[in-house]
Amino acid sequence: MKVRFLGTAGGRLVTFRLIKRSGGFLVSQNGSYLHVDPGPGAFVYLKELGIDYRDIDLVVLSHLHLDHSADLNTVIEAATDGGKFKNVSLFAPKTAIEGEDRVLLPYLRKRLVKEEFLEEGKELFYKDWKVKAVIKHRHHKTETYGLLINDEIIYVSCAGFEERMLELYPKGKSLMIINTTFYKRRPNVEHLSVEDAEILIRELKPKRAVITHYSMEMLEKNPDEVAKELSEKTGIKVLAAKDGMEVEV
Ligand SMILES: [Zn+2]
Ligand SMILES: [Zn+2]
Repeated sequence: MKVRFLGTAGGRLVTFRLIKRSGGFLVSQNGSYLHVDPGPGAFVYLKELGIDYRDIDLVVLSHLHLDHSADLNTVIEAATDGGKFKNVSLFAPKTAIEGEDRVLLPYLRKRLVKEEFLEEGKELFYKDWKVKAVIKHRHHKTETYGLLINDEIIYVSCAGFEERMLELYPKGKSLMIINTTFYKRRPNVEHLSVEDAEILIRELKPKRAVITHYSMEMLEKNPDEVAKELSEKTGIKVLAAKDGMEVEV
């Protein structure tokens, strides 16, 4: 499998002043793509990377916030070739599909092969993809899940740190992607910091980790330097995601 980061923006300024790109990340295997969190710009960035939209078989949404979901409808429409084919599925929190703040256009639901709701502990399958909603995060009262993809890739989406993460996320996986928005912990903001990422990496011991979803504070600290620091402290190879970066799993 390969993971391609369309964008790395996290905080409000970095995302909505387009200091870094957004768009989530793509996982690929055998010509099939799983797109996680198609945030703003994903539709354009996919094209730039030479990806055929019709090869996107599955879209997974960790939560409905705009920086994760802005291009959801466009990516689904593009995957179906403008409604011509029924060839894409969606796994998302129920609130993102049916809630008051839903982000999926209702008329697109019938274009989906399969629509499934993420729930803590539930495993979902489509084609060669297996997605487990490992844990429901604490994230500003929005239904948000951390994911395990094909038993190898952990995605620690936006969250306030909690001890439960160390029990529920599996240990020793190939890759752990961590939305490390802040350098320093901010008690009232439910986003992860470098300090939290260090605990997660040290305790869960993935083979490699990637930090992404940066705020201005993180960019000022230089993500490459932060990743180096984390590698030294944990003894585990940590990479700083870049817009467009690809990682082999
Ligand atoms: Zn969020
Ligand atoms: Zn976010």
